[in-house]
Amino acid sequence: MIFSELGLGPEVLRAIEEKGYTQPTPIQEQAIPWVLQGRDVLGCAQTGTGKTAGFTLPMIDILASGRARARMPRSLILEPTRELAAQVAESFETYGKHHKLNMALLIGGETFTEQVKKLDRGVDVLIATPGRLIDLFERGNMMLNDIKVLVIDEADRMLDMGFIPDIERIVSLLPKNRQTLFFSATMPPEIRRLADAFLQNPREVTVAPPASPSETVTQAMVLVQEQDKRKALRHLLRTEDVKNAFIFCNRKRDVAVVQKSLEGHGFNAGALHGDMPQHKRTETLELFKRGDITLLVCSDVAARGLDVQGLSHVFNFDVPLHAEDYVHRIGRTGRAGRMGRAFTIAGPEDGKLVAAIARLIKRDIPMIAIDGLESATFEEGEGRRGRFGRGRPPRGGDERRGAEDRPRRDERPRREERAERAERDDRPPRREEREERPERPTERERDRAALSEARREPPRRDRDRRRRRDEDDDDEPVVGFGDHVPAFLLRAARPRPEPSGGDTSQEG
Ligand code: AMP
Repeated sequence: MIFSELGLGPEVLRAIEEKGYTQPTPIQEQAIPWVLQGRDVLGCAQTGTGKTAGFTLPMIDILASGRARARMPRSLILEPTRELAAQVAESFETYGKHHKLNMALLIGGETFTEQVKKLDRGVDVLIATPGRLIDLFERGNMMLNDIKVLVIDEADRMLDMGFIPDIERIVSLLPKNRQTLFFSATMPPEIRRLADAFLQNPREVTVAPPASPSETVTQAMVLVQEQDKRKALRHLLRTEDVKNAFIFCNRKRDVAVVQKSLEGHGFNAGALHGDMPQHKRTETLELFKRGDITLLVCSDVAARGLDVQGLSHVFNFDVPLHAEDYVHRIGRTGRAGRMGRAFTIAGPEDGKLVAAIARLIKRDIPMIAIDGLESATFEEGEGRRGRFGRGRPPRGGDERRGAEDRPRRDERPRREERAERAERDDRPPRREEREERPERPTERERDRAALSEARREPPRRDRDRRRRRDEDDDDEPVVGFGDHVPAFLLRAARPRPEPSGGDTSQEG
């Protein structure tokens, strides 16, 4: 099939041609005609399948006729992270270059002033993260009753990040008579329930079985002691033909540690996580996309759905806590039919997490050994027993050693001892001491406690709240209202309307 058969207008087709696309991807082929017909669409598609163009291309055509009024956006795209929102905005610019559509990007971490000015001028396409959208709405900066097309992208991620109450609230503020496009990489029951509530008689389009990694990604796993993970990573980076790579860590703190360690060892590495100020996140991502940085150490949230052309590798410095994240992480490579390689560095405590991934993707990740580095075993009761399942390692000359063979504390290299002594002496350790030194026992214990805490899974709502605070407007200090009195507090209270049937709003 070719693009001109999908029913798109000539300007959009010209922009596609200039972008160099020759054929629609399967999600585009399936979704675009339905969107153009005004139907609701429920799309089950991973990132990397071309789903962004699947909704932006027809939206541009739909919005081409009509004009936006001040403060009354005509369409709304909700994205879980700022980076994804910025990426969708970029797509709109690329595909909409032969149209005169106004677009506003409302994301946390940027000043309100510019965003408000744009809203005042009238926008056809509003691309937003849920928190910032609600903030601006509550300040009285916009009305949402002219929204004709709503896109909820990465719905499963929204759920994971605790945005669902916000999404429900936003949807309750929109006109009932609208077109809704709902995309998710996976369709757990909670997402299905939301889709049922938000969509009317949708056309379902699915382009890959939920949570299946792309066949173009070669996967492997190494299992080492916790303190050897950085060494394992460096070995992989040196022996693999890495053009550019994402290196995922589970905790933001580790993102900084791993990035500094890599830099200290002469690698060209940047960091991306939710605690960084937005301008720094944008700048780092730009450097990475331009190739000025070749390795990007990142957290899941910062990197989710990021589209970097031709990413050669993904490294999981930590096994992800949620099995679905494994699929999302490794899906950053092997995109658009290209080949990619994904390596996961597991520690002895990760057996259960690894088993959960194997269950999800319905196969074991092949284990490899690293020459010169002692392999570990999963701890008792931590899932798959042994390093290599039932088989032998595919390469490497290291022999398996049991727990009793592990180096005892007094056998640790001198460098580590020096680093510890330096700490006691209250002088900064030398650089190589800092980088190789394993964490002090107390800190490791704290990490373990945090990990088991995470594994125990607190009630979803609490977890969601916490994550949302963490990841959405996390770089803005919480200062209450200060001297500022929000506009909504100054308006006279109106009587609350009777709830109507099907209203899914929730007080937040
Ligand atoms: P997405 O899944 O939307 O993140 O898109 C993944 C990548 O595929 C992006 O780099 C797009 O530019 C690219 N892409 C989207 N549609 C096409 C197409 N029809 N042909 C080739 N590449 C495409």
